[in-house]
Amino acid sequence: MMRIEADRTKCEGLGMCEAMAPDHFEVGDDGTVVVLNEQPDEEHRTELTAAVDACPVLALALRG
Ligand code: SF4
Repeated sequence: MMRIEADRTKCEGLGMCEAMAPDHFEVGDDGTVVVLNEQPDEEHRTELTAAVDACPVLALALRG
């Protein structure tokens, strides 16, 4: 099972992940990322890899 990890202590709320994969990430009211589904289906891997790679502060990781 694929899993998204977000280090909210690193996140600066820049929103790149939300722009790349809006169904999976949202910048919350506190200015840090909210992962909408931490165990996404395999079909989303390409989109999620792009979103994880787009984070300028390396706050995101895709496991599994
Ligand atoms: S791209 Fe990175 S810094 Fe920007 S909101 Fe997403 S996790 Fe946070």
